[in-house]
Amino acid sequence: CGIVGYVGSQSALEIVTAGLKRLEYRGYDSAGVAVLADGGLAAARKAGKLVNLEKELTERPLPTGTTGIGHTRWATHGGPTDANAHPHLDNAGRVAVVHNGIIENFAGLRAELEERGHELGSETDTEVVAHLLAEEFSVTADLAEAMRLVCRRLEGAFTLVAVHADEPDVVVGARRNSPLVVGVGEGEAFLASDVAAFIAHTRSAIELGQDQVVELRRDGVTVTGFDGRPAEVRSYRVDWDAAA
Ligand code: GLU
Repeated sequence: CGIVGYVGSQSALEIVTAGLKRLEYRGYDSAGVAVLADGGLAAARKAGKLVNLEKELTERPLPTGTTGIGHTRWATHGGPTDANAHPHLDNAGRVAVVHNGIIENFAGLRAELEERGHELGSETDTEVVAHLLAEEFSVTADLAEAMRLVCRRLEGAFTLVAVHADEPDVVVGARRNSPLVVGVGEGEAFLASDVAAFIAHTRSAIELGQDQVVELRRDGVTVTGFDGRPAEVRSYRVDWDAAA
């Protein structure tokens, strides 16, 4: 029920897990993170509270990286198990995606992917997105473009955030009928389902519009529609006190 993304120069894992804690109040049944480091992608996911994920990260630490994503899940498709927890990865383990919402046409997409030889390891509606992104990225070598192409095929309500090991300084987000906010810092940028996740770092925010994709880099953000047309970006200052 919560999403956090980060690209910058600090430890993505620390920023993302702290952000997930700020979103805990929303309720969830599992949690997970993925970071890009050393040319690869590393992920951890666990059913249960964030403490379970933290224990997992202590026992099997992830490499330190400055690009990462995190998720707290409220299961809709597939029970609250480790295997169904997000992030979901493609079969090569190069792309990771987290999702809040429901992808209504996932069954058809899943059948199509399996026909093309993909092996899906979870019961979620989300996992198809990781595999579709991997396919589109292999053609476009551009994660934001891959996300636009995939989103045009999705039905339902979704906030999606993804990273790809071949684009190590980029986080991409997309939304339809589900919230996603961008935080713009100095040499760093954040994505979250709620500003509470990044308010400790920046108060400069951009609210993503309906059917838009955002590409986050250290030095700025680019927003387009699912159709690829540049979108007008309206930034605002978060002035409420979220320190409590
Ligand atoms: N539908 C997805 C799942 O069941 C995402 C649920 C959520 O919003 O956390 O895994």
